[in-house]
Amino acid sequence: MNIILAENSGFCFGVKRAMKLAFDAAKCSKPLIYSLGPLIHNPQQVDLLAQKGVHEVSDLDRLVSGDTLIIRSHGTTPDTIEMAKAKGINIVDATCPFVVNAQRFAQALYKEGYQVVIVGEGDHPEVIGIMGFVENSAWVVENASEIKNLPRRKRVGVIAQTTQLFDNFREVVCAIMEKSEELKVFNTICHATTHRQEAAIDIANRANLMIVIGGRNSANTNRLVSLCKIAGVNTYHIETANELVPSWFESANTVGVTAGASTPEWLIEEVLNKLKSFNRKNS
Ligand code: SF4
Repeated sequence: MNIILAENSGFCFGVKRAMKLAFDAAKCSKPLIYSLGPLIHNPQQVDLLAQKGVHEVSDLDRLVSGDTLIIRSHGTTPDTIEMAKAKGINIVDATCPFVVNAQRFAQALYKEGYQVVIVGEGDHPEVIGIMGFVENSAWVVENASEIKNLPRRKRVGVIAQTTQLFDNFREVVCAIMEKSEELKVFNTICHATTHRQEAAIDIANRANLMIVIGGRNSANTNRLVSLCKIAGVNTYHIETANELVPSWFESANTVGVTAGASTPEWLIEEVLNKLKSFNRKNS
């Protein structure tokens, strides 16, 4: 069986940067380094980080002056940063520059008097963080069907959660046109996400079976799974190589592999090696 690894699989620029900042901080700081929530949406990499001294906490309560807090690539609210600073906590800001863009556009729209709309998932940390930049005033919508329930506003400004599907974003923007006199749109979807999704679709169109590697809590990995399924190919979502089942591949000539932005290279390698071992057993 042929095994094709999609381009742009695994860590994106923003996650790579966050990992480097975290490992550097762990090397040169006292042992107490924390992230608010998992630093990335990949349980295996979070375990590795914990072994290196980067621990996940759910709030700032147990942190004391002199501790270090790493802000995740998803970013956080300005209030959280202020609270941490007030407690004397050192901040390592690993917010992805693309997320910073989304935060800045949202804040600028808010200050200019636009009703801000965020196209994304309301419970995602990135969206919760952006909300903090608009005093929690934004409407969060996941898809165009939700627009009909919203009231009309004179001026509406739209941004996207960085991992949104472009087609979904466009549909929401079109639907909002009917609800506003003036519409300002910032396409804040990150290029890494778009390229990864395009590469996954390309491979899915050529493969009999797709393996998508990544945390089950990772929004962008779950989107890759949906896209491969929409392309009509049998698709399995796994977190580790141990989940691969030999019988899946019995009638697959070409297997495509892709991975979410928070999937480390070592996990991808393990999956590829296991797939190659199935090949050897069958030859
Ligand atoms: S997916 Fe894009 S926005 Fe998110 S961390 Fe990676 S580079 Fe940044």
